[in-house]
Amino acid sequence: MEIIHHFGLKIRSVADARAFANLGVHLELGSEGQPGFGVTGFDISENDPRWFEVQRLVQEFKITEFVKTRFSEVENRSARVLCMFASLQKGYPSDASYLDFLAETYDLGSYCLHCGAGLVQVRPFRIKSWRNLNRTVWQLNWVFDEFLVAREIWMDVFKPYGIECWPVLSAQTGAEVDSIVQLRIVHEGHLDATDFATIACTHCGRKKSPLNLRGFAPLPTVVPSPIFKSFDLFGSGANAFHRVYVSGELFSEIQRKGLRGLDFYPCGPS
Ligand SMILES: [Zn+2]
Repeated sequence: MEIIHHFGLKIRSVADARAFANLGVHLELGSEGQPGFGVTGFDISENDPRWFEVQRLVQEFKITEFVKTRFSEVENRSARVLCMFASLQKGYPSDASYLDFLAETYDLGSYCLHCGAGLVQVRPFRIKSWRNLNRTVWQLNWVFDEFLVAREIWMDVFKPYGIECWPVLSAQTGAEVDSIVQLRIVHEGHLDATDFATIACTHCGRKKSPLNLRGFAPLPTVVPSPIFKSFDLFGSGANAFHRVYVSGELFSEIQRKGLRGLDFYPCGPS
């Protein structure tokens, strides 16, 4: 595996950028004197021979830092279970505000406004715009534990594993969108709690963890279905979501069918 850092930077001058160029990091800066000049970013692996020098230099300029992990094919293929993320979050459901979206989609009886826990989906998503997905799997911007796929892909790849779907509705007309469905992920499994630290919400007491994408995904204690959600919650602020896991067998089928837009984090050896 390789640990990758994405740094967001604010560079003040061309001379600052030269310090990065001297280390072999070429930054896109825009035009000097124009709005947005100097706001830039780049990715670097901890395996990169320049890593220690770059890490020192970046401290003065960084505004954000995200860590993720890139796994080898062998690591992915040998895992019994893998955590699945969409690399593509596109568009917002309808024109509604976030709270209106929640009210029209979820039972909010046990929802906590402060930590985001307790959402139970009871109605299909209503989406404002869509396009032909082909083999790309994607998510809506506010919803990190649900996946949208083309109907043919659901029939071909997911339905044979007993995975049902939700219809998706047009926000304008309320009519069902024929070409797209939402995977209906009904099973949940607990994760090995020693793999991550939790923080309790001061309002409802439910626990969640910051999403950590460094290294293997936390291991589930059971694999209840070819696709399932963690019972445990992740996220920060008012956002809470479940991790979504697939069995090694379903992962192989997703690879074999060439689905795009997904990142996988295998679980460590059990
Ligand atoms: Zn709460």
